[in-house]
Amino acid sequence: MTIWKDYQLAYSLSEAVEAYNQAEKPVRFVSGGTDLLLEIQQGSHPTMKTLIDLNHIGEMRELKMVGEQIFIGAAVPVSQITNSPLIKKHAMAVAEATGLIGGPQVRNSATLGGNVAHALPAADGMISLVAMDATAITYSHSGYSKKKILELFLGPGESALANDEILVGFEFSIKKSGEGSAFNRVMRPQGVALPILNHAVWLRRKDHVIEDIRISFGPSGPVPTRAMLVEEIFRGNKLTAETILRAKETILETVKFRTSRMRATAEYRYHLAQALLEKVVKIAWNRAGETE
Ligand SMILES: Cc1cc2nc3c(=O)[nH]c(=O)nc-3n(C[C@H](O)[C@H](O)[C@H](O)COP(=O)(O)OP(=O)(O)OC[C@H]3O[C@@H](n4cnc5c(N)ncnc54)[C@H](O)[C@@H]3O)c2cc1C
Repeated sequence: MTIWKDYQLAYSLSEAVEAYNQAEKPVRFVSGGTDLLLEIQQGSHPTMKTLIDLNHIGEMRELKMVGEQIFIGAAVPVSQITNSPLIKKHAMAVAEATGLIGGPQVRNSATLGGNVAHALPAADGMISLVAMDATAITYSHSGYSKKKILELFLGPGESALANDEILVGFEFSIKKSGEGSAFNRVMRPQGVALPILNHAVWLRRKDHVIEDIRISFGPSGPVPTRAMLVEEIFRGNKLTAETILRAKETILETVKFRTSRMRATAEYRYHLAQALLEKVVKIAWNRAGETE
């Protein structure tokens, strides 16, 4: 089966956008290819006339600290993110999420850019970036722009990126004293791609109280969201058994899980979400209490 007719390597963002706009259509950007090429091969995505490879664009392969921000290039292989001491220090949720994507071979090719651009509401890397309140840096024919991570989605598998818009990278704040994050998920034993449920938490503690918190679950609706009303239960309160119980009840009342034929019933997802919440919040809390 022919997946593409013309495969082009881009060495800069402007070159990639120009190549996109000049290319014989249909055309797509490709990073690791672990979503796109498989979907084309399996017939769930139309074949392409042109693919434009983003892996040789220097700034998309950088992983670095810039002032008070961490920058992860959208074309950095997720295995590199998982193993990065910088990410382990500042964003354990991201290290844990990327470390669970596929197996070692997939992780050596897969990228955060592809994980987010594919716009599936349970993508592991994306769910961790939501809890980190990441900002995406993009580039298109109109130049660079910045967007909050939650602005990038229109529906399941449908991103809000313009056709020629490239995800260049993601940035989020460095870990400050009293802050911590964690990620966990539940996968079908024989599952290889998306989880039954995944969950990420970032929090800041002060004087035995959760001063601020961000919570994300996937998949919980057509586009990724934060569980804002669950966050409200924790904010300003101590991490007691009572707070956790109220937060679990609030999941039942306010977070939307649905039954999916291939993965799990909504009922099972509510059960898992409550168990994961207690586990993940406690891990993030303990990490937030660790001294440097
Ligand atoms: C065996 C297997 C197991 C997997 N397990 C998991 C898992 O456990 N968890 C999980 O979340 N995912 C999983 N995946 C899915 C996939 O590996 C990830 O979503 C991966 O992060 C996709 O990144 P990629 O670079 O390979 O994307 P690609 O396949 O290159 O691209 C995916 C989509 O994003 C677009 N795109 C890519 N990069 C950019 C960019 N920088 N800017 C704009 N658009 C872009 C492409 O045009 C395409 O539409 C699995 C896949 C396989 C094959």
